[in-house]
Amino acid sequence: MAEIDPGRLLRDLRRLADFGRSGAGVSRPAYSEADLRAREWLCERLAEAGLDARVDGAGNVYGRAPGASRAILMGSHTDTVRAGGWLDGSLGVVCALEIARALGAPGARGEVGVDVVSFADEEGTWEPWFGSRCFCGELTPGAAAAARSGLGAALAALAGRPLARLEPGRHLAYLEAHIEQGPRLEAAGKTIGVVGAIVGIRDHRLEFAGRADHAGTTPMAERRDAGRALIEAAGRLLAGFERARGPETVWNLGRIALEPGEACVVPARAELLLEYRDPDEATLARFDELVRAEVAQANESGIACRLTTERSVPPVRLDAALASALRTAAEACRAGWLALSSGAGHDAAVLARHVPSAMMFVPSIAGRSHRCDEDTAEADLVLGARVALAWVEEVRAAAACGVGA
Ligand SMILES: [Zn+2]
Repeated sequence: MAEIDPGRLLRDLRRLADFGRSGAGVSRPAYSEADLRAREWLCERLAEAGLDARVDGAGNVYGRAPGASRAILMGSHTDTVRAGGWLDGSLGVVCALEIARALGAPGARGEVGVDVVSFADEEGTWEPWFGSRCFCGELTPGAAAAARSGLGAALAALAGRPLARLEPGRHLAYLEAHIEQGPRLEAAGKTIGVVGAIVGIRDHRLEFAGRADHAGTTPMAERRDAGRALIEAAGRLLAGFERARGPETVWNLGRIALEPGEACVVPARAELLLEYRDPDEATLARFDELVRAEVAQANESGIACRLTTERSVPPVRLDAALASALRTAAEACRAGWLALSSGAGHDAAVLARHVPSAMMFVPSIAGRSHRCDEDTAEADLVLGARVALAWVEEVRAAAACGVGA
């Protein structure tokens, strides 16, 4: 029975955090010197583990199990936001490395191997989920560089390297282990989050156009007050969202701006930036309807209102059988589990469009993430790796049965 080595797992996580260390945290934005050095370091560790390892033209680090005709793909990302933490992304990559080492090279013919990947620019320093989208064939570095100034120069050090690609005949499944980045596991006293879905996201901009007037001399009834229209619409939206919400819906009024922004002038223009997220498309559609109704109501009342949807990301359902294997693996390791959705985007959402995918969370202390004090108890990091290994063995056994049948 393969076992992970807790000391080695934690040492590698700490070593990886040395690249771009900044105080207690890590600054390793995509294609920075620290990011590229960390990728080379990882590539060496994957080669040591017996994998065919390389850094590709998008910056993805890919370690392929030689001798295996089928494999489970595991990983995450090693880039960070600026002044980020040491575990976001790194955990899933080092966990995959440790599992590849624990399992060793595939022995018997037909045995399912473990391929390890660290995707580039998950955080969107240049282009969100850039590496995984290239890996899945949704994007090429050339096309992205043509659309995003500066990206071509950032990728120059990798020019000429062939792209690693998802191999549909080979890759049976993808698993991404990740920190939760929220407080729910900790609050529930559970160690393993079994992610059922990754939320969909809507970002809207609402622009209200009224008329600037002297706020002392213009009678209330004669005003076309863009600010008042916005505030009233926002109040109705907040109440409507509360009624239309699902159990996991979140929303945010991120910015309200009034122009010209003087106490003595009725606002001529008002702008609201609004976001909501939910794992269920039907809930997002109900929220969309509420927003459109406000736009229509403002326009009918003489305040021109324009809606621009800046971002619309559909929710992604992860594979139910693989999630069920995660629950089994957690129970086998005596780890309490909780079913939840991911409120943040991940590479797994890209992979899930192309290969059956699963995602597993471990608790984030006080829910903190994307900051230097992001942390997880060592015991939870180790238990998470054990559960991920048990999951791999579960999925490998199922694949072997499938072949034998
Ligand atoms: Zn991440």
